[in-house]
Amino acid sequence: MDTSKYDCIIIGGGIAGLQGAIQLGRYKHRILVIDKGEGRSSLCRNYHNILGWPEGVSGKELRRLGRLQAERLSVKFIQDEVTGLTRLENRFMIETSNGNQSLEALTVLLAMGLSDRFPSLPGLESCLGETVYVCPDCDGYEVNGRKTIVMGSGNVGASMALMLTYWTKDITYINHEWQSRTVDDEYLQKLVSQEIVHMDGTLTEVVRSDMDGHFLGVRLADGRMIAGERGFIAFGGNHVHSELARQVGIQCLDNKHIITDSRTKMTNIQGIWAAGDIGVHAEQLTIAMGEGSQAAIWIHKELVGARGVAQSYRRDHQIDHH
Ligand SMILES: Cc1cc2nc3c(=O)[nH]c(=O)nc-3n(C[C@H](O)[C@H](O)[C@H](O)COP(=O)(O)OP(=O)(O)OC[C@H]3O[C@@H](n4cnc5c(N)ncnc54)[C@H](O)[C@@H]3O)c2cc1C
Repeated sequence: MDTSKYDCIIIGGGIAGLQGAIQLGRYKHRILVIDKGEGRSSLCRNYHNILGWPEGVSGKELRRLGRLQAERLSVKFIQDEVTGLTRLENRFMIETSNGNQSLEALTVLLAMGLSDRFPSLPGLESCLGETVYVCPDCDGYEVNGRKTIVMGSGNVGASMALMLTYWTKDITYINHEWQSRTVDDEYLQKLVSQEIVHMDGTLTEVVRSDMDGHFLGVRLADGRMIAGERGFIAFGGNHVHSELARQVGIQCLDNKHIITDSRTKMTNIQGIWAAGDIGVHAEQLTIAMGEGSQAAIWIHKELVGARGVAQSYRRDHQIDHH
């Protein structure tokens, strides 16, 4: 078998990509996952809202388990960045940043996710998902009744602070980008009416406990330490990794998220699917997982039905499907 030819190449080996790989691996298709090895799921130290993990699970652990599970199903992995996606008559060519790959696939699953924008602050990344959060739907519960510091930018941070009043009355909002992004009067009035402490200040550090690494507060450029029990970040301007998609004419919303068919997760380009945070949804792990499976089911239908590929694959591998 020419190993550079695949039934499906999955771009992005985070949550959506891995779940898609497991589902497609169980159909015994030839699957390659190309992942550059970062992503939101690598950042989150503890997911608290996942079925079966009441004590939480880190993104790294879920990814490790997912990859093992997919490899047992003969899914191949390479660590690399996809830099080019070209559509030919009935297949796709993929280039990577290593430049030494010429990879061909009958179908493609885009699962490149997005990147949250936040400043590089000592101490911040090691708290993400554990005691500092990004998503009130995922982790509002974790700040219930706790002194919470929102680190953010302009109206985006103000809006997060206001949202968190559902959970706690003790909120301080620090506008880190106060020099370029001010908070509009409309938001300022709401912050005041909700008794949210609001300050402009340049963050220099997230202060953590020596004992357990938990969030203790933040330090500002003027030397002040603002104490808190939990943190949230809200800087806005997240980067959706849909450049490759847009290059081949895939339809996206103005905010760069890929539009897919709600039933199949296929994009407007025949043969290309999208799943996870790169698509239009609530940017949650379980949704990314579900979409990975959903896309895989319809990729399988395409491989079996329209193109007769599965038949030739079955013949090559002498697999008897009933
Ligand atoms: C700090 C934090 C906490 C979170 N907490 C929760 C929570 O508690 N509950 C919850 O439900 N959700 C939570 N989320 C959201 C959750 O992590 C995402 O919804 C989920 O990771 C989306 O999965 P994905 O596969 O779409 O993207 P990702 O997991 O980000 O995976 C995308 C992958 O694609 C790769 N990639 C991108 N571009 C390329 C390329 N060109 N070539 C090759 N590879 C590429 C990236 O390196 C990455 O590995 C949290 C997110 C963050 C950042």
